Order: sequence, then structure tokens, then C-alpha cells
Amino acid sequence: MGGPDPKIDLNDEQLLRYSRHILLPEIGIDGQEKLLAAHALVIGAGGLGSPVSLYLAASGVGRITLCDHDQVDLTNLQRQIVHTTESIGKAKVVSAQQALARINPEVEVQALPERVEGARLEELVKSADVVVDATDNFATRHAINRACVKFRKPLVSGAAVRFDGQLAVFDLRREGSPCYNCLFPEQGDLEEMRCAVMGVFAPLVGIIGSMQAAEALKVIMGIGEPLQGRLLLLDALTMQIRTVKLNRDPACKVCSA
Ligand SMILES: [Zn+2]
Repeated sequence: MGGPDPKIDLNDEQLLRYSRHILLPEIGIDGQEKLLAAHALVIGAGGLGSPVSLYLAASGVGRITLCDHDQVDLTNLQRQIVHTTESIGKAKVVSAQQALARINPEVEVQALPERVEGARLEELVKSADVVVDATDNFATRHAINRACVKFRKPLVSGAAVRFDGQLAVFDLRREGSPCYNCLFPEQGDLEEMRCAVMGVFAPLVGIIGSMQAAEALKVIMGIGEPLQGRLLLLDALTMQIRTVKLNRDPACKVCSA
């Protein structure tokens, strides 16, 4: 399954910091070393990116690259829990970087205050062990998916609007894996549903973002069964969760090209 090459010996402080992970037989020292050796690319430092980056940093993912071109706004604070009132006006990635450093100073956080696209996006995806899509628009989601397909990188995709959440993992290292475009073809007439217009229930982004973090960690360590080729749908009003199987579209313009 590839994954990062663990070459790190845990020191005493790390053994304590990560002891509750190390206690888990599925993780242990091996798994924790894989996390420390890993590079996660997190695109979006908003509602989803907040819990994603907080949990990846707290868990000891060695290198986190965080991209977002936006600044912290008062309307973000209802749900974007990595930011604080004092961060208003700051670049979101800088605000998040400071918060993550307070939680776990040993994690290297690269903050990119830009809208990553084109060659830049490809270069970042290529260098990552796992890519987390925490953005809120289809154009960016499709660009991230194309780069993940091109470099066969696992993609953890999440979305949340109003009371509806979605989560899926596209592990493109696996033969026959569907991609994001198989599920939502770019030419489709899907209506853009953004939180800014539609509203979003605050804890929903926390739930979906935390699930994205869990899946990213599992993918890095190669444990359990990631939500690969499955789509999880959460209705936060009824707390009903459904999981549907996703099939690869043999005519998909991205992964079948
Ligand atoms: Zn596809």
C-alpha cells in the first residue's frame, strides 16, 4: 500500500504525547511513526479545514500543508473553530498555523495564503501522502480530484451545507477506484450550494471535518477500512447516516482517460 517511510524514532516526550494512540494495538509505535513521517495536504482552512487541521496536528502528522486564500471574517467564527475573534482580518492559514503551533509545536505547518491551482496544485498533491479536500466549491474540488487521479494520491473529500453532510474517500492507488468526478461529473448541472448563501449548522462541519481527519489518519497508517468507494450521507436534523456504494464510471472523463 506504499505510504510514508517511517524513519523516526520516538523520543520520551513523543511517547507520552502520543501514548493514547500507541496504546491502540491497531496504531502502536509503528502507526505513530507513520503519522510523524507523513505529509498531509489540506486545502481549505474553513469549517471543514478547522477540525481536520486541529486533529491532524494533535495526532502528530509530521508535515501539514494548509492552503486557503481567504481572511478570517466575523461570519466564519460560528463554525471555523481553529480561528478566534482576535484572528479577524488575518489570513486563515496564518491564524490556523498559530493555533496548530500552540497545540503541537513539533508539527511542521506550511501555510499557503493562496488559491492553489494549476502546476502549483499538482506539485503539492504530488508531494503529499494524503490530500484532504476541505473546500466549498466545485471548480476547486474538480481540480484537486484531477491532480489526485494524475498522481494516484488518496483523496478524502467532505462537504457540509445546511444540515446535510457528505464524506467519501477516493483511494486512487487502488485499481478500479472511482474518483470524485465519477460521482459528480464536472459537466453535470449540480447547483452550487455554498454556506455563505445557504447557511450551515455549526457542529455539522465539525462532525464531517473530524470524520475527514479520521479517514486521513487511517489512510496514512493503512489501518481499518477507509470509506473507500463509498459515500456517507449524514442528515444532522435526524442524525441518520446512510452509506452508499460508489462505482467507477467507465466513461469518466478524468479517471478513465
Ligand atoms: Zn472518475
